[in-house]
Amino acid sequence: MAADGVHAGPFGALDVSHSFADLPADFHTVLDAQPLIRPRVLHANPDVARMLGLDAAALTTPAFLDVVAGNRPLPGGKTLAAVYSGHQFGVWAGQLGDGRAHLLGEINTQQGPFELQLKGSGQTPYSRFGDGRAVVRSSVREYLASEAMFGLGIPTTRSLALVVADDTVAREVYETAAVVTRVSPSFVRFGSFEHWAGNPQAMQTLLDYVVTRFYPQCARPGPDDDELGGATPQQTTALRLLGEVVTRSARLVADWQTAGFCHGVMNTDNMSILGLTIDYGPFGFMDAFRINHICNRTDRNGRYAWNVQPSAMFWNLHRLANALSTLDLEADALAFQLDKFEPAFIQAYRSNLMRKLGLSYWDDDTDAGLVDDWWRLLHEQGADFTLAFRHLAQAPQSPDAFLSLFADRSVASVWLDRYRQRVASEGGVDSERVASMQRANPLYVLRNHIAQWAIDGALRDDPSEIETLLMLLRDPFTEKKGYERYAEPPPAGAGSMPLSCSS
Ligand code: AMP
Ligand code: MG
Repeated sequence: MAADGVHAGPFGALDVSHSFADLPADFHTVLDAQPLIRPRVLHANPDVARMLGLDAAALTTPAFLDVVAGNRPLPGGKTLAAVYSGHQFGVWAGQLGDGRAHLLGEINTQQGPFELQLKGSGQTPYSRFGDGRAVVRSSVREYLASEAMFGLGIPTTRSLALVVADDTVAREVYETAAVVTRVSPSFVRFGSFEHWAGNPQAMQTLLDYVVTRFYPQCARPGPDDDELGGATPQQTTALRLLGEVVTRSARLVADWQTAGFCHGVMNTDNMSILGLTIDYGPFGFMDAFRINHICNRTDRNGRYAWNVQPSAMFWNLHRLANALSTLDLEADALAFQLDKFEPAFIQAYRSNLMRKLGLSYWDDDTDAGLVDDWWRLLHEQGADFTLAFRHLAQAPQSPDAFLSLFADRSVASVWLDRYRQRVASEGGVDSERVASMQRANPLYVLRNHIAQWAIDGALRDDPSEIETLLMLLRDPFTEKKGYERYAEPPPAGAGSMPLSCSS
């Protein structure tokens, strides 16, 4: 690597390896990305660059463009497409895999390893009927969404760079190609495990890889070992891993719920084994609250509607457990680990809601009813999810901004009176409640109509809206003067159009 340092450009100074490429050959296909026509870095993310050990100057070098456009491998890495399988919309889809993504290798940092993956970088043996490309529209959305989630404190993959090019891509209409460089400790999915169902040896290899690198605690004795049966050490490790993934995934989906985030395509191939939000497609942050909001136009039956995301996650975890049972795990022990979902979800969901509602404890007598009626109020009046929470902080003292979000203010006033009483029952300092609620309830979320401004700019090679949005979404809780329109719901009639999957 050192000898190649000059050609390697800014990456040459980093500690790069390719652990996933070192897995047996049937885990992936080693191949190059397909070059684009006139690729240029429309935006590069200095926050993620810094995390990787790259300074801002590195992001404007030709060597950086070469890597994030897929023209050259990551120096010290090994480019590949990974294989995985999965259940799509409840149906076993068989083999899938990186059909338009290339893993470049990982950069080892003091915070651990971070893999770089290009999305939209050309065809692979797993492309099936796809062209291996991604369009500007979906790439801008993914680029921004992962940073928006990070700003909200929700576990997610990150984005390093957005490259646009002149290639034309056929979707519902002709669009322009783009490539996002995503960054994550790992892109292993539930579907990566499902792929090896029936093959204990490969399953064990994948399990060892994931546990050694990301869940080393699962290889050590744990508090529930007595409940996991008289299995071998490897089997106990597999069960401990399942328990960890169940817990992390439960917390993740609780975070989605309380941010008003709908993933849109909660197929098992889009579920991270690390409990991260991954594969942003037709996702949506809700504007007007609808309990059964569907953000993905292709999801006709609402399999992944907002109110069923937790049960969809639970179902996905059953698929993971089922795959792991290839290692001859006891059904009771699998069930024991799966049973951790509900308490973990409820605990995270309540704790998020307590922060969002400015409550310091959960009162079993009142709070479930208060929260149920809150959702009902928002749903019946189609109030804006983000602003309703945001304006609730000031509402006990000055209710106007809050009440103006509701068509029928009197109904909202009745709920607000109950909320006032509940807050008063805590006897806390009100200014502290307001301040902490403003740290828990964002003013800026990546609403679809706002993402569209950035997409329109990107199509003109203008990254300024992306820059503005990243600035706001990096710290979405702090109000910035002059950016009022970024906090507003879509104009009446323009909101909540579901997006399609064809990205
Ligand atoms: P998704 O639901 O978008 O995560 O994609 C499901 C599967 O389809 C994955 O295996 C993707 O790699 C593959 N895929 C999606 N879009 C394309 C495309 N344009 N070209 C090739 N493969 C694709
Ligand atoms: Mg996917």
